[in-house]
Amino acid sequence: MNTSTDSGFGRAKKALGQHFLHERGVIERILQALNPTPGDRIVEIGPGQGALTFPLLRAHGDLTVIEFDRDLIAPLTAAAAPLGRLEIVHRDVLKVDFAALAGDDAPLRLVGNLPYNISSPILFHALEHATAVRDMHFMLQKEVVDRMAAAPGSKVYGRLSVMLQAWCDVTPLFTVAPGAFRPPPKVDSAVVRLVPKPATRRPSVDPARFAHVVRAAFGQRRKTLRNALSTVMDAEAIAAAGQEPGARAEQLSVDDFVALANVPVDTATANR
Ligand code: SAM
Repeated sequence: MNTSTDSGFGRAKKALGQHFLHERGVIERILQALNPTPGDRIVEIGPGQGALTFPLLRAHGDLTVIEFDRDLIAPLTAAAAPLGRLEIVHRDVLKVDFAALAGDDAPLRLVGNLPYNISSPILFHALEHATAVRDMHFMLQKEVVDRMAAAPGSKVYGRLSVMLQAWCDVTPLFTVAPGAFRPPPKVDSAVVRLVPKPATRRPSVDPARFAHVVRAAFGQRRKTLRNALSTVMDAEAIAAAGQEPGARAEQLSVDDFVALANVPVDTATANR
């Protein structure tokens, strides 16, 4: 279903998760949180009709945006021309190589009111390129932000919490009501800041093994580690990593998952 907008950019496309921000106060708070300084390499994901793009361009003068909807490219280009230098990457953001985009320049500052239907894939995609990213300021469903920032033991603590908190500092900033968007989404939204950790604070673990263990552990949420991890490691290996095989994934800290992922693969499966 398409929903009319009053901007002259055309209609909002539900399939592309288009909910356009119109509340000035919210736009200003995002800009304040981002706090652009000269020389920053700012990349906006999903500029839409320019709610964040144009104020950012006025403030910073130079911006790259990644937009998938071809119908928005010409109006964005026209409206941006008097404001500053806007580079438009017309692609699916999930196919954009952030490391290549950053090149030898400063690491990227990603910002965006994300399409909620693909927000988790975008977060995982950004994680893969975390060393090319300085920070991220994203508008997401509040429920997703709650999961991102959740602590062990919380009902919403899960794979997203562990994966993001392992590699980034996650700070929820503020909540935004549906009325700030046209059309309004059915859920509350929230803005979150993610800052990839410097090398000295990143966990010492093979990222692929870590991701594999975390996925398996939360794949069967109600199961004990012994059962959920049965294809990855045996109970002895879980105990060798200092964990209780009868525990559940949601009780483990990020460091606990690092310990599990660091059990040598031979040892992990020795008794199976
Ligand atoms: N930034 C605008 C605002 O706040 O009003 C628009 C936000 S809207 C929630 C999400 C934007 O992401 C839309 O412009 C949509 O076309 C774009 N988008 C959706 N899927 C995308 C994808 N895979 N790659 C790049 N942009 C995408």
